[in-house]
Amino acid sequence: MLAKVASLGQWLPKRWLYSGICVLTVATITVGQPQVSQAAEWWQLLIQGAQIVQLSNMSDAQEVALGEQTNQSLLGQVKISHNQALTNYVNQIGQRLARNSARPNIKYTFQVVEDDNINAFATMGGFVYVNTGLMKAADNEAQLAGVIGHEIGHITGRHSLQHIKQAAIAQGASSLLGVDQDKLVQIGVQVALTLPNSRQDEYDADRRGLTTMIQSGYAPSAMPEFMKKLIRGTSAPEFLSSHPAVTERVSNLQKMIPAAYRSRTDGLNTSTYKQSLRSFF
Ligand SMILES: [Zn+2]
Repeated sequence: MLAKVASLGQWLPKRWLYSGICVLTVATITVGQPQVSQAAEWWQLLIQGAQIVQLSNMSDAQEVALGEQTNQSLLGQVKISHNQALTNYVNQIGQRLARNSARPNIKYTFQVVEDDNINAFATMGGFVYVNTGLMKAADNEAQLAGVIGHEIGHITGRHSLQHIKQAAIAQGASSLLGVDQDKLVQIGVQVALTLPNSRQDEYDADRRGLTTMIQSGYAPSAMPEFMKKLIRGTSAPEFLSSHPAVTERVSNLQKMIPAAYRSRTDGLNTSTYKQSLRSFF
């Protein structure tokens, strides 16, 4: 309890500072809740030592702190690889992309999940996860970079936060004041592992990921090529089946690649990539 109360201070000053804005913004998602219950709930939660998070005005530092807690919770549900060489390899690709993304100023953490399913996911505050199954399915580093770039796109687009906000409202977990932090982390895990992203967010993450690939010097053609390869397989992996309208995404991506970048070959060498993988697995 002491720790909870102590960390409450982390969230409070900013919320008090912007209290006028917060109430106004949150009121738009909880129309009809009487003012009197707002006050009662506020004091009740304070007495309980709950940490109430205001999603509408979240700073980068708050988002990263929530991402760290969501990551801690995720670690109990997925098996993170302790293979340092493998993790360094993915981290080095991820950091190169993150530096060239639209949001280079937050800390990014890239982790490998020991799972043969072809999958990758992200949560707020710079946390990206790549399954070993996906790494083995890729033909080259640029294809892997395309997936990581897409996941970074979800972070730069702050999709997780929006998704969590919608899920919190749908699950009745959002009040006029915000969302209890423990509940928020719980929903964050659901969003990362089970709740499918919206079609709009997928297109946006593709667009952002493609731009980041180009800025980072990777051949952008690898991004739609990997999707094409996976949907040609006997059963499309979860990573793509939960991502809507893949064929349309492939053609959108192909159209988005500027002519000058279509013949780029950076990161397309299969033998170098497979040799790296052999040294890790
Ligand atoms: Zn996605």
